[in-house]
Amino acid sequence: MTNKHYAIIGGGINGLSVARQLLLDFPDAKVTVFEKENSVAMHQSSHNSGVVHAGLYYEPGGLKARLCRRGAELVYKFCLENEVAYDECGKVVVALSKEEEIRLNAIYQKSVANQVPDVRILEASEIQDIEPNCIGTSALYSPRTAIVSYGDIAKKIAEEIKRKGGSIILGQKVTHLTERFNKITVHFDNNEHHSTVFDYVVTCAGLQSDRLAASSGDIETPKIVPFFGQYYVIDENFKNYVRGLIYPVPDPKYPFLGVHFTKRIDGQMTIGPNAFISFGRENYSGKKINISDIYDFLTYKGFWKFSSKNMPAAMRELRTVLSQTNFVSEAAKYVPSLANVSVIPATRGIRAQAMESDGSLVDDFVIRKQGNITHIRNAPSPGATSSLAIAEYIVREVMSHG
Ligand SMILES: Cc1cc2nc3c(=O)[nH]c(=O)nc-3n(C[C@H](O)[C@H](O)[C@H](O)COP(=O)(O)OP(=O)(O)OC[C@H]3O[C@@H](n4cnc5c(N)ncnc54)[C@H](O)[C@@H]3O)c2cc1C
Repeated sequence: MTNKHYAIIGGGINGLSVARQLLLDFPDAKVTVFEKENSVAMHQSSHNSGVVHAGLYYEPGGLKARLCRRGAELVYKFCLENEVAYDECGKVVVALSKEEEIRLNAIYQKSVANQVPDVRILEASEIQDIEPNCIGTSALYSPRTAIVSYGDIAKKIAEEIKRKGGSIILGQKVTHLTERFNKITVHFDNNEHHSTVFDYVVTCAGLQSDRLAASSGDIETPKIVPFFGQYYVIDENFKNYVRGLIYPVPDPKYPFLGVHFTKRIDGQMTIGPNAFISFGRENYSGKKINISDIYDFLTYKGFWKFSSKNMPAAMRELRTVLSQTNFVSEAAKYVPSLANVSVIPATRGIRAQAMESDGSLVDDFVIRKQGNITHIRNAPSPGATSSLAIAEYIVREVMSHG
């Protein structure tokens, strides 16, 4: 039992999950979430592919592997108990060449090591049993991969927090935190009069996580470099050409999974996301460039090292940014009958991807403790799948509640 006062900064799915977990484990605790927007889950948590990842790709033994498997189970249970839509539509990762088959097999080995249920390799002739219009030389089939709306889940978690006596304060931007004699003061960008002194704080600020951590005295790196991902919705009349999720074999030199067919929980079929540098951390339209965000990555030596190492992959992605036709043809390599399908742009997502100063992208989740403050510094995909497990991990293993 603890009657301590906790503040959570950021009302995305991770911040909300941490607040909920605190209230589950310590019903007497006072828990307050501060969110800068006027609603919860306005950023990554509602701008993603909506996939409940089964844990195929992640380095066995790493946090991602462990928390994704546990998180997928918890998301399923949460959806069942809260009547949130959950569709176990299954996923195929499709190889188009012998070289890709070698990489596919390595993913299969990882998925076995990660104890992903029911995964198997399909021969070319078996792919159409699962996805009738898909071609490939072989595929990895994960029947338990599912889809949800993480925005809807976040809203349900917010309701639960309020039912359990926690508070969610919207429209409240936190500038920095200071810690003295084991008490943490939360500083806002206006003079609102909330309680500002807490025993413990967890920052879950997504695209702003490096800034909030650094302004509160944590280390400067890794820094967040924002990569946007565009989605397109395919013509309604063709949506049944794909039953579930069709993914390429990811390029090991690039951390993103590649343009894929993603069924949405509302029944739409989308293609995307690609991955390219975003001229603004919250620039969803692509039009509102943010000078200070651009300055931030242009003056970061890690960004230039990353760019020089990843030119071929960046050029491939740029083709899909500049031309809708190129975008659709990337996906149509797997479903040729959709080569001429008409599409309309859907919203973008912007990934909060941490990058080290040597230009490497941080693959695993990064959660750092600084006194009585805990910072989530890197929680890219499968961060939404893992959110309820990230919360358990932070509350039960990272924080001390003395
Ligand atoms: C294109 C794309 C596709 C993805 N696909 C998947 C997928 O299919 N499956 C999956 O599991 N994951 C996926 N992800 C990853 C997943 O969306 C994220 O891991 C997850 O949403 C992160 O949640 P979060 O709460 O940490 O961050 P966010 O949802 O970004 O929330 C952070 C919150 O903090 C608030 N905030 C920031 N700064 C402050 C401040 N100073 N004061 C107060 N509030 C602040 C923000 O307003 C925001 O609400 C995808 C991500 C993207 C971008």
